[in-house]
Amino acid sequence: MELNERIDAWMNGREDELADALAPLIAVDSTSGPAELGKPFGPGPAEALERALQLARDWGFATGQDDGYVGLVDLNDKPAALHILAHLDVVCAGEGSDTEPYRMVRDGDLIYGRGVSDDKGPAVMALLAMRCVRELGVPLTKNVKLVLGTDEESGSGDIAHYYSHNPFAPCSVTPDAAFPVTNVEKAHYTPTFSHAWEETAVSGPHLVSLRGGIRINVAPGDASARISGLTAADVSNVLARVQERTGVALTAEDGDGLILRAHGVQAHASLPDEGKNAITALLEAVAELPLAENPQLTTVRQLSALFPYGDNAGRALGVAQEDAVSGPLTLAFSLLEINPTGFSGQFDVRAPACATEENLVRATERAFARHGWACVGEKSEVHMVEEDSDFIRTLLDCYEHFSGKPGYCEAIGGGTYVHDIPGGVAFGAEDPDFDNRIHGANERAKLSQLLMSAKIYAAVIARLCA
Ligand SMILES: [Zn+2]
Repeated sequence: MELNERIDAWMNGREDELADALAPLIAVDSTSGPAELGKPFGPGPAEALERALQLARDWGFATGQDDGYVGLVDLNDKPAALHILAHLDVVCAGEGSDTEPYRMVRDGDLIYGRGVSDDKGPAVMALLAMRCVRELGVPLTKNVKLVLGTDEESGSGDIAHYYSHNPFAPCSVTPDAAFPVTNVEKAHYTPTFSHAWEETAVSGPHLVSLRGGIRINVAPGDASARISGLTAADVSNVLARVQERTGVALTAEDGDGLILRAHGVQAHASLPDEGKNAITALLEAVAELPLAENPQLTTVRQLSALFPYGDNAGRALGVAQEDAVSGPLTLAFSLLEINPTGFSGQFDVRAPACATEENLVRATERAFARHGWACVGEKSEVHMVEEDSDFIRTLLDCYEHFSGKPGYCEAIGGGTYVHDIPGGVAFGAEDPDFDNRIHGANERAKLSQLLMSAKIYAAVIARLCA
């Protein structure tokens, strides 16, 4: 029998086994916590790592670890041709799940629970693929090493530690995105811009303060402003008009001053078009209100001109650009605080390969300098792996064979585990046509998809380690 058919036959029918192996990992709340001795990211990630390594030993693998930062599973003791990097930490489950997020629930082919898709499911999937290759007795001259991380969601200090004293493999993949292959991760630029002024007393209606956003890598769903000297009735026409134009809900509440609230749709900062930015909508509304001049209002007008609602490409700022390999620059205005003595803001740019110090960083600094604002921040490098290589062709081949879907390479704005690993790419394990609700409520995965991913990975291992 041909190898692909043997992989197929070995893997089919293992849904229950996969689910049973995964459930104890989902049962650990492995969000990052304060460091303890031997547990650099807290007790949750350490417990998840211990359980995953126990599973690997139960399945007959030799395991190791690196000071509690990462776990290591080897297929054999030959030199490594391939590293597979998966992570066992999760982002906080948050509100809104229909079932307890740290108890895996199965409903036919679907499984629910924090981490089933990001990234505990793919970690177990990779282990199953290694087992398949071993049990089929595929002759190998090279090793595959599974690197099980514990800090992907909060800075990837785990693999930075591991690779600070261990060599990279010739090829690296991470099953922590969607198939087919992600070979370009855009550069990241998140400057802080600010200005301070003397508090000024004004007579008449005026803007006191404005704030919005929760985290730099989130395009904000909420923002609010405090206004003195106006009532909700005074602002209702403007709010209705801007709400109509932007789709962001704008409300006003009389109390200790007038409070304006903008409620849009939050999105990941690398995909700002999927959200409705509450900060930029609120800036437009405040700029149109009948208010007395003060530095806060001047700042609102200047910011609104540089970051008009819906401009998620940096056009008004003068940094919009794109190239064929990595796509367009995206910009999310994610954090802002304006108060009576100054302001500070931050945006999150994901920049294509054509972006330079000059056309992005200096251009931003010049635009802000026109208003006398300070701007501090560095641009990271683009991560890019050549598409035309045996490695990438092997990945795409195996993907096409088992999924029946076309293989291709794509660029993303987000960064993955392999951002700083030479030649590393993200490869699955999500079906590009299925929403696994990663980082959201009711995270889910399909057992059939995880088994298909395991077949793909088994075939990749067999070919790259032959
Ligand atoms: Zn992940």
